[in-house]
Amino acid sequence: MRKINAYGAENASTPLAPMSIDRREPGPHDVAIEIAFCGVCHSDLHAVRDDWGNTRFPIVPGHEIVGQVVAVGGAVTRWKPGNTVGVGCMVNSCQACEACHAHEEQYCERGMTATYNSIDKYGDRTVTRGGYSTHIVVNEKFVLAIPDGMPLDRTAPMLCAGITTYSPLRRYGAGPGKQVGVVGLGGLGHMAVKIAKAMGAHVTMVSHSESKRDDAQRLGADDFLLTRDPAVFHDNRRRFDLILDTISVEHDFNGYLGMLKRHGTMVVVGLSETKGLKADSLINRGRQLAGSLIGGIQETQEMLDFCARHKVYCDVERISIDQINVAYERMLKSDVRYRFVIDIDSLRR
Ligand code: NAP
Ligand code: ZN
Repeated sequence: MRKINAYGAENASTPLAPMSIDRREPGPHDVAIEIAFCGVCHSDLHAVRDDWGNTRFPIVPGHEIVGQVVAVGGAVTRWKPGNTVGVGCMVNSCQACEACHAHEEQYCERGMTATYNSIDKYGDRTVTRGGYSTHIVVNEKFVLAIPDGMPLDRTAPMLCAGITTYSPLRRYGAGPGKQVGVVGLGGLGHMAVKIAKAMGAHVTMVSHSESKRDDAQRLGADDFLLTRDPAVFHDNRRRFDLILDTISVEHDFNGYLGMLKRHGTMVVVGLSETKGLKADSLINRGRQLAGSLIGGIQETQEMLDFCARHKVYCDVERISIDQINVAYERMLKSDVRYRFVIDIDSLRR
């Protein structure tokens, strides 16, 4: 066990602040990683503010981690010190159920171990602590290889924002000839635009922020719809094959569903809520409403390799750890261009 520097919150109403946490010595199947960068996901903010009522305080968030292997357990063969690696939203799962066998550890029937705020039930039963810290120790199966040449700060957010958008875009067939609508231009949304474009789809950004129109185009979107104008829903009805909804706050799904073509699918990835969902919005034209949680480890590797091949990287604003509370306030105002990434060297000083 060793003490390391981290940043976290003692309760839902205090700002994040420095803290010292324990990391276990690597067991036979563990990999110890010195963290270089950690992305800031809106889920970190939801968890720190206890939006879901399940936060175990004190919490150290962070599940978009890249860094270098510094030590490995005796049974580890795939990784060695010096490897550049990533860790996403999961650090373990039962590895025996149907979902794990299907490479969908995120849906593990006994529950995956999240990178933070989970009981490490396949390990020492402590509460997991995330990447706003200098080091992490992870089971070798939950470590990802970062392809050579990828800029590390711009790759970190892919470990959550990248896979969360890649997985449903693949599953629901984004590609040439398909009209894809991406709702919400934040961390997830900007990756969805880039990845859907790289897959060959026609991509429309659907946003409530006029100020993001030019950025949407720069990121590769073919078109931009501003939802502040209610006529937009009527004028664009039956337009999309696939809609990816990344909005982080409660909103009405009906208008978006109306923009789907016959048998079109809307996939919700934003951890939001809706009121007054009308059955007719789905029944009419046989539309489908789906959800999606991150992606499995194998698919996360596939996404990293895909992004390396297509030179798709995140647009990031690098911050030092002491800027994290300001970053959270800006995230609450939809003022992220388009992912904050913490330079973890600032935690070592
Ligand atoms: P983010 O960077 O804060 O982006 C969220 C976007 O939602 C904003 O940029 C904004 O886009 C839109 N939005 C915010 N308030 C809105 C409002 N009042 N009305 C309409 N649109 C609004 O957040 P993120 O990190 O991308 O995460 C998005 C959501 O996905 C969060 O709830 C997060 O917890 C969740 N998440 C889910 C998974 C999963 O596995 N399913 C994984 C990671 C994150 P515009 O300004 O363009 O409208
Ligand atoms: Zn996330």
